Amino acid sequence: GACIGIVGGGQLGRMSAVAAARLGYKVHILSNSKPSPAAETAAYLTIGSYDDPVCLEKFARSCDVITFEFENISAEGLSHLARFCPVHPSGRILEISQDRITEKTTLGSFGLPVAPWREIISADELRSLSSFGFPCILKTTRFGYDGKGQFRLDDEEAFRTLLEKADTLPYPLVAEQKIDFAREVSVMVARNAEGTIRCFDVSENYHQQGILRVSIAPAPIMPLLAEKAQTLATELAEKLGLIGIMGVELFEDRNGNLLVNEIAPRPHNSGHWTMNACLVDQFEMHIRAVTGLPLPPARRHSDAYMHNLIGPDDMALLPGIFQEENASIHLYGKEEARPGRKMGHVNRIFPRGGLPGSMVLSSYQPRLEG
Ligand code: ATP
Ligand code: MG
Ligand code: MG
Repeated sequence: GACIGIVGGGQLGRMSAVAAARLGYKVHILSNSKPSPAAETAAYLTIGSYDDPVCLEKFARSCDVITFEFENISAEGLSHLARFCPVHPSGRILEISQDRITEKTTLGSFGLPVAPWREIISADELRSLSSFGFPCILKTTRFGYDGKGQFRLDDEEAFRTLLEKADTLPYPLVAEQKIDFAREVSVMVARNAEGTIRCFDVSENYHQQGILRVSIAPAPIMPLLAEKAQTLATELAEKLGLIGIMGVELFEDRNGNLLVNEIAPRPHNSGHWTMNACLVDQFEMHIRAVTGLPLPPARRHSDAYMHNLIGPDDMALLPGIFQEENASIHLYGKEEARPGRKMGHVNRIFPRGGLPGSMVLSSYQPRLEG
């Protein structure tokens, strides 16, 4: 049978591998760390560096198509893989999403709105930032996830404190105006080589300390706005020539306008609700897209409330969650429940239209129980 290569050993790789296995594919995981969530779901496992050409070539030669769940493989690494095997989504898309400056520049060139931003290339330039105004958020341009590598500058005072270590920061940085958003939403969009595009319903996402905590679907937004979000994601997929799935993170501002926060050309945490609320979930949609299979409509048969299990505190609640009737539990097989670490997620599923009002994010404080 055909073999799908997945670069990266995390939970997104694990769930992609399970979806691929269900479709009859063999999966070869390339991971740079020894025990990894994806390792135990793979038929073949290579542990090695994403920068080692010998390792990459051997991996690529064993695969019929390669995709990734890990976004930070180098451009050289990617083009090396592509010499031996098709890679989807393309290295070009990955390069755009790897770097916040390239990402924002590209989005801007497509005419898509983003939060006002500025590149900061040095400590001296940082010192002149006050002209940009507060509150704002400083972000590293690369390797950030779960809000890591970000400095929130709510006022002049926070800025002055940061300036004390200005010389030690990893430049270039991006300064973004902090958006006073009404809510955060996202769209998962898939496209195959034939050009078929499917958008899942818009979800509303709630973050705590920069980490996704809860997603609900459908997002409680005006149908017209949901349509706008999906149109935006569709246009983006077309313009990028996407093959695979991509998460598009959006802010809805107080005037009902959408701004793009960032894109992730891979399965995305805010799409995990699809695993139990859609016949074909984001992982299967992704595998279908990269292997050239038909894409069915991204139909949602249920409402969903997805809650991440983060760190030891959430894991302690598992016995109670196992007692629930409408909770589907997904664990990633990580040994150590360090604080802030995503250990799994729970999908609470309700008939369409039956998501309890108390679970609508914009109007409540998320809690794990009830
Ligand atoms: P991810 O794990 O989604 O890749 P990340 O580390 O790339 O996260 P961002 O998505 O840029 O980080 O930011 C994390 C969260 O911080 C956002 O979902 C949002 O809640 C908040 N945030 C980021 N940028 C802004 C902004 N310009 N204005 C307001 N809030 C923001
Ligand atoms: Mg990100
Ligand atoms: Mg994000």
